[in-house]
Amino acid sequence: MPHPLLDLAPLSAEHFAAIERQVASVMGTDADVIVMQGEALLPLEGCIRSAARPGSTALNVITGPYGQTFGGWLRDSGATVVDIEVPYDTSVSAETVRRALQEHPETELVSLVHAEAATGNTNAVAPVGAVVREHGALLMLDAVASVAAEPLHTDAWGVDLCVIGAQKAMGGPAGVSAVSVSARAWERIHANPGAPHRSYLSLLDWKERWINPGRIALPHAPAQLEMLALEACIRRIEETGGLDASIARHRATAAALRAGVEALTDQSAEGLRPYVTDARDAAPVATTLRAPDSLDARELVAAALAVAPSGSPAPPLAAGGGALGGEMIRVNHYGPDATPGTVVRVLSALAEALNAAGVRADLDAASTAAEAAWSGPEE
Ligand SMILES: *Cc1c(COP(=O)(O)O)cnc(C)c1O
Repeated sequence: MPHPLLDLAPLSAEHFAAIERQVASVMGTDADVIVMQGEALLPLEGCIRSAARPGSTALNVITGPYGQTFGGWLRDSGATVVDIEVPYDTSVSAETVRRALQEHPETELVSLVHAEAATGNTNAVAPVGAVVREHGALLMLDAVASVAAEPLHTDAWGVDLCVIGAQKAMGGPAGVSAVSVSARAWERIHANPGAPHRSYLSLLDWKERWINPGRIALPHAPAQLEMLALEACIRRIEETGGLDASIARHRATAAALRAGVEALTDQSAEGLRPYVTDARDAAPVATTLRAPDSLDARELVAAALAVAPSGSPAPPLAAGGGALGGEMIRVNHYGPDATPGTVVRVLSALAEALNAAGVRADLDAASTAAEAAWSGPEE
C-alpha cells in the first residue's frame, strides 16, 4: 500500500505556483512572491544579502532580537549600518525613522520587524513605510509574527521586501517561507554586485530560473510535504472565516489575556504584569509578561507547566530567550492556540504557580476581566 507521507505524487510546478499565488494574497501583494525552501531566516538573510550593497548605508530598526540578527547580516554584506534601537517594551515611531533618515540621507535600505514574537511588541508599519517611501530607500519587513495575526498590506504600505513564515499565526509549517520582491527591489538587487548568485540564499536565482521563464519548471525538488502543509493551513484559515477572522481571534486572545493578567495580581513590582507597557504596542500574536521581581521567570514557567492538568493541551508558556529569560514569560497564543480556552488555561496555571510561590493571585477576578475583554468570535 502506498505510504500517505512517503509515496505522494510529485508536486508539479503548476501546483507550486498556485500555492505562491495564495500566499501573495495573504500578504496583500501583487509583486513577485517566491516560496523558499527553508525556515523564514532563509529569505530574511537572502533579502539582506541581496539588497544591501557593499559600501551602502542601511538603517536597521531594532525593536527585539531579530533586529539584532539583521544588523549582523547587514554588516557582513559590507553595508555601513545605522542602528536605531528602541526599548523592547515599546515600538518605533515614524518620527524616529524620519529623523534617522534626515541624519543619514545616503541610506539605501531600511530594515524593520513588524511584530516581534520574542518580545511581544508590534510596530505600526504604514507610517514608517510612508516616511521610507518619501526618502526613496527600500523597505524590508519581517512579517513572520504578524501575518494572519494583524493586518499586513505589503503593497499599500510600500514594503519592497516582505518575508513571512507560516509557523506562527497561520498555524502552518516552519520549513518553507515566502518573500515578496517589488520591481524597485529587483532593480537594486540586479545592480548589487554582492547579491548572492548560484547560492541557496539567492533571490536572483529564483528570478532567473523560476519567475522569468513563467514558473514552468522548478529549479530544484520542492519540499513537498511542507508545501502541502502550507496550502492546507491557508485553506484552514479560509474555512474558519478567512484572514479577518484569524486577525480578530488573535486580537481578542491578546486583549483577554492582557486584561486577565492585569486583574490577576497586584500591578506593582511584586505582581505579574504585561511586559509591553502600552497595549497599543502589544503584538496580537503573542503576549509577554514581566515576572514579579521576587521570582525567576524560568522557575515560574516550569511551575505553571507542572501544575497544568495533563488531560488538556499544555498552556503555550515559555520563558523569554537569552538575557530576557529571568524576567520575561512568553505566552505564544497563536494559530490554533488563539482561543479563549488558551487564555483560561494560561491564567489558571499561572495563578496556581504564583500562589504556590507566595504571590497572591485572584483567578476569579482574572477570569472575569478576561471574559469581559474578549471581543472576538466565540470558540
Ligand atoms: C518567529 C519569528 C521568526 C522566525 O524565527 P524562528 O525563531 O526560527 O521561529 C522571524 N522573525 C520574527 C519577528 C519572528 O517572530
